[in-house]
Amino acid sequence: MIRRFVVVAPILLAAACAVNPATGKRELSLVSEGQEIQMGLQYDQQLVQELGEYPDTALAKYVDGLGRQLAALSERPGLPWTFRVMDDPTVNAFAVPGGHVYITRGILAHMNSEAQLVSVLGHEIGHITARHTVQQMTQQTLFQAGLIAGVILKPELADYAGLAGAALQVLFLKFSRDDEAQADELGFRYMRRANYDPREMAEMFAELSRVSAAAGARLPEWQSTHPDPVGRKEKTLERAATLSAQELSDAIVRREEYLRRLDAVMYGPNPREGFFRESRFLHPDLQFEFTFPTGWKTVNEKTVVGAVGPNQEVVLMIGAGQGTSPADGARTFFAQQGVSGSPSSTTVNGLPAAGGGFVAETQNGVLQGRVLFLMHRDVLFRVMGYAAQARWGPYQNIVGASLQTFRPLTDATALAVQPWRIDIVRVDRTMTPTEFAQRYPGPISADELALINQIDAGGRFMNRNLAKRVVGQAIR
Ligand SMILES: [Zn+2]
Repeated sequence: MIRRFVVVAPILLAAACAVNPATGKRELSLVSEGQEIQMGLQYDQQLVQELGEYPDTALAKYVDGLGRQLAALSERPGLPWTFRVMDDPTVNAFAVPGGHVYITRGILAHMNSEAQLVSVLGHEIGHITARHTVQQMTQQTLFQAGLIAGVILKPELADYAGLAGAALQVLFLKFSRDDEAQADELGFRYMRRANYDPREMAEMFAELSRVSAAAGARLPEWQSTHPDPVGRKEKTLERAATLSAQELSDAIVRREEYLRRLDAVMYGPNPREGFFRESRFLHPDLQFEFTFPTGWKTVNEKTVVGAVGPNQEVVLMIGAGQGTSPADGARTFFAQQGVSGSPSSTTVNGLPAAGGGFVAETQNGVLQGRVLFLMHRDVLFRVMGYAAQARWGPYQNIVGASLQTFRPLTDATALAVQPWRIDIVRVDRTMTPTEFAQRYPGPISADELALINQIDAGGRFMNRNLAKRVVGQAIR
């Protein structure tokens, strides 16, 4: 969380008719390949900055190598392909135009073989070779450009209105069912060209179904944009049935090699980047804590941490400030056009701070709130609460009191907290998930262990197979 946002410059678009390289169809294209590549590089840079890559060089090289091998067999081998592992616990994979594919450590934790990973990469490559993402992003970019041209909000406020960096919107891109079916078909084609076992693609869809079914608290990201894994599993099996027995027995799975790669990979949210104890937020790496108003709904995302008050009419957010000091940050904030107020300098729990009440005129109406800039261990923080002006009154004191709770973190337990990690074990007898959880205890339930090991209800961990367990302490 707390990464800086970058505003991407809208790219000028020119319409042209081109032949789609993967599908062979003529279609109206708003962007040339050169523009597509240019746009992709910008989005790639932004995504890496905002979401962050998972810092494991060997794993990154492995995934990138597999992706490149597959892309080289596609209809667009000349794109500047990159395949990145993102430091994100959610189950997700996505692509941006120009050859950039992203998979999260969360989806890696749910895959069980190299062929399954390759099937996800192949699907995402398919979106790029068939130019689905170009068409989607073109619309997004136009939308974004419209927003910018319309001067909807001051940039400082824009982050908090949910208008995060344009690149993040790829996380929410929805493709049509036709596009999805086509990406599945292309993914199948590419994994076959590399001689992988296509039945593993069906297993990948089966796992996505399990993740979807198990998702109560956890949002299955890939699911929301990729519907109907059951139907897609059946379709994949139909395609696989056209292969000869010889082809199937020669096909690559690489279960054990893949699982070995997952050994020690982080599992679940990284508490070093902040976690909640009810309304109290603790950030071990940045060594601060902050208490949100009681009963507000809190969020802890990669890009923002905050809370939303009653009726979603008031928000309180922590982010990175811009400037060299609290006074500098406040000066810049209040100097924005349409923002009025008189900031003053102060200290909060021993930390140098500056800020005050503000009123901001935006296209969405007049907002009123309080902002506070604080310097702690050479990092400038901005904490801000606001609501529509007419709604602000009852929240003024609540937000004001909350702002005063920002303080250095001294809690030894919180400072020492460590993320959970996957540990690969060789199962020494056939056992149920419950028996496995007793034999290999850890912070996650037998159900969750069954889920990440792709074991259905009534299924067993098989003797002598490798399996994933999770090690770590409860986060508190
Ligand atoms: Zn897709």
